[in-house]
Amino acid sequence: MTQTLLALFAHPDDEAFGTGGTLAHYAEAGADVTLVCATRGEVGEIAEGVDATPETLGQVREAELRCAADTVGVRQLIFLGYRDSGMAGTSENADPRAFVNAPADEVVPQLVGIIRRVRPQVVVTFEPNGGYGHPDHIAIHRHTVAAFRAAADATLYPDQGPAWQAARLFYTAFPRSFFLQMRDELAALGEDTGDFARFEEAGFGWPDDKVNVTLDVADTVDAKWSALECHRTQFGPGNLFRRLPDAALKRMMSHEYFALAWPEPAPGARFNDLFDGM
Ligand SMILES: [Zn+2]
Repeated sequence: MTQTLLALFAHPDDEAFGTGGTLAHYAEAGADVTLVCATRGEVGEIAEGVDATPETLGQVREAELRCAADTVGVRQLIFLGYRDSGMAGTSENADPRAFVNAPADEVVPQLVGIIRRVRPQVVVTFEPNGGYGHPDHIAIHRHTVAAFRAAADATLYPDQGPAWQAARLFYTAFPRSFFLQMRDELAALGEDTGDFARFEEAGFGWPDDKVNVTLDVADTVDAKWSALECHRTQFGPGNLFRRLPDAALKRMMSHEYFALAWPEPAPGARFNDLFDGM
C-alpha cells in the first residue's frame, strides 16, 4: 500500500523547518504527500534584498511555497485561499478575509473534503499552540483536529465524499531541549541569546517526554535546506538559523519531532517513524 501523508499548515514556510525533511523523506520513499496551506502569508516579513512589496507578498510567497513543495517532492499543494491574519493584536486580525475570522462551519467541511479525497494514513498539523501562538497556526490546528474526526463520521458532510478514518494524527512539536540546544550553540559563538529568555517565559517548546517520534532526516537534510532557501522573503541573511555554523545547523536540522495526538499514545510511547507498524 502506498504511504499517504497529508500535512496542513497556515503559511508558506510553516512546513519548512519542522517537517521539510519529513516530507522529503517520505516522498523519496514513494509516499503520496499532500500539503495544505491556509493562506499565502500576505503579512509576513520581507527579507532585505527580496523583490516583494506588502501588495505582492502573497503572490511571491505562493511561488516560494511552490518552489519548496517541489523541492521536497510534495505531489499536491492546496491553498485554501484565506488571508494571513498577522500576529496576535495587529490590525490585520480584523480583516474579514483573515483566516482567523473564517468560521469553523466554512473551513471544516473543506478540510473534510480534502481528507476524504486524499485518504491519508497519517495527518500532520501544528500542536495546539501552533509552535509560538500565531493565531493562524492555532486556527489550522483547531480546524484540522475537527476535520480529522468529522471525516471519519459518515453522518457528517455527506456531500464531501465517503467517510475516511485516517490512522494517525500527529502534531509537529519542537521539544524544549531543541531550543535549549540552539541557545547553547549560539551562546558558545558569543551570539545574543536574549530572544530565548522570552521563549522560556512563554513556555516555549513541547515537553521532551511527550515527543513520540524523533525522525532522523539526515538523508534529506539537503533537500530541506534547498526548500528553506525557496522561502526567500522569510529566510533572509539576518535569520537566526543562518548565524549557526554549518555543522551545528545541519545537526539541528537533521531531526524532526512529532507528538501523536490520535489515537492517544501510552505515556512515553516511542515510534520509529510516522508509519511505524502500519
Ligand atoms: Zn506561520
